[in-house]
Order: sequence, then structure tokens, then C-alpha cells
Amino acid sequence: MMNPIYIDQNEILKRYKQPDKFTHKGIQGHALIIGGSYGKMGAVCLSSKACLKTGCGLVTVFIPKCGYDILQIAIPEVMVVTDNQEKFISDITFEITPQAIGIGPGLGLEIETQQAVYKLLKTNKIPLVIDADALNILAKNKEWFPLLHPKTIITPHPKELERLIGKWNSEEEKRTKTITFSKQYNLIIVMKGAPTRIIDGDTSYENTTGNAALATAGTGDVLTGMITSLLAQSYEPISAAILGVYLHGLTADIALPETGYQSFIASDVISNIGKAFL
Ligand code: AMP
Ligand code: MG
Repeated sequence: MMNPIYIDQNEILKRYKQPDKFTHKGIQGHALIIGGSYGKMGAVCLSSKACLKTGCGLVTVFIPKCGYDILQIAIPEVMVVTDNQEKFISDITFEITPQAIGIGPGLGLEIETQQAVYKLLKTNKIPLVIDADALNILAKNKEWFPLLHPKTIITPHPKELERLIGKWNSEEEKRTKTITFSKQYNLIIVMKGAPTRIIDGDTSYENTTGNAALATAGTGDVLTGMITSLLAQSYEPISAAILGVYLHGLTADIALPETGYQSFIASDVISNIGKAFL
């Protein structure tokens, strides 16, 4: 097996694109974040705010009706489109043309939501990041894997990965199974953990930023927003995954002297994205 490529500052500077001086929000990328269900709207708040803070020009969220006030009050910069259902998503329809979609944070596993995900996967042609319950829905419906477009980015934590590829007996087997899965469906797999690894067929990357402060609720939802934002800004999928994972980890390294491991929360990732870029 090939050695991983380390995701360090060198690797990042090769890929990072400085925003053009004459850019405007209309060409800076429009991202769509789809997720949320009753009691889990916070996941969409975190994800969509992180998406904006990572530099795309516009962010729209698609959520169930119960999240309308929550989103509009929590994040005035975000635009909101709602499903017809009150507490969960049942049919994903939107009139905008985003450059990237992130789906999964807080989504829930209702049967109607599963059908909505199926319909989106069947018709979608826009670069996609799949996380959280959208991955759990895929794991329940493995026959849908072939619907995923080449270089779709998936961001499973270890439990979500296990639901997708089955159990492993060693780190080595976990890696081999993930590579096989990545090659079979031509996916970019962000294997979240300590450290986070990114698998793109035979090429593996290993992140060098981040620490145990990230072991707290909502940090994964934030990562989804960050990667979706970079994808909307026309980064190639592999670069969006690499930059997103690196910057996400770096926020925790920057914040650690102030928050310690204990009091760091997902919102601290978001408030340090600016410093991570600088
Ligand atoms: P999730 O479980 O989906 O909320 O994602 C958790 C995020 O935090 C992922 O990006 C993980 O890589 C990161 N994370 C969790 N625990 C650690 C740790 N001990 N060290 C570094 N990163 C971590
Ligand atoms: Mg998660």
C-alpha cells in the first residue's frame, strides 16, 4: 500500500486560490445545505454558518418547516427554503442553481426523507458532499450506491463508515476496505478521526492538524459546511476535501490555548475559520 500524502501547509499552499479582487457574491459560489429535523436544527445552523465563513458568496438551506424561524434568526445571512412537512424533509425541491450541495446534518431517517434522498441522488448533477444521516440512509439502501456521481465526497465518522462498508478487524483492513469502496464507486472518502484520512482511489492523504478538542457535538456538521463551501467556490472535489479538513483541524489548534480541550465547542471551529485562513 502506498504511503499517505501528508496534508501540511505545503500541500495546502499548492491548492489554495486567493479570491479575485473584483469578485462579487454572485460568482463567489452559491452553496445549498440540506438537512434538519425536529430537535436537530442546530446541525443545519452550524453547517450553513460554517459554509458562509469558508468564503462562498451565498448559502441557501433546505429544511423542514419547523426550522424556518430558527434559521432566519440564528443566521440572517442565510436564505431559507422549506419542505412542505413540519418536522422532517419529504421532498427536496428548489429553484436555485447552486454550485455545490451538502446533505445530511440533522436530517433524520424518516421513510419519506429516505425517498427524498433517493430522488435527489437520481436527478442531481451538482457536486455533492454527503454526511451524517444522509450516509445512514445510504447505508440502509446500499443498492443506491451506483447513483453517486464520480468524485462525490462522503464524510463518515467511524460508525457511519462501518454502516457503509461493514466491520473491520484491524486498521489495515479498515483502510483496504475503504480504498476498495472508493474505487468501486469512484468516491472521495473523508475518514474522520484522529487523524482524519482522505481516500481517493489508490491515493491516500493524512491530515496533520486538529486535536482532541474536536471530539464534541457538531464539529462534523461544521466540516460538511466548510467542504461544501469550497466545492461551491470551484475547487476540485479532492482539493475541497483536503483544504476543508486541514482548515477545520487548524481552528482547534488555534483555539486550544484559549479554550482548553474541555470548553471548545463546534461554534469555536466556526469563529476561528478566519484565523485558520490567515
Ligand atoms: P462528527 O463525529 O461527525 O461530529 O465529526 C467529528 C469531527 O471531529 C471530525 O472531523 C473528526 O475528525 C474530529 N475529531 C473528533 N475527535 C477527534 C480527536 N480526538 N482528534 C482530532 N480530531 C477529532
Ligand atoms: Mg457527524
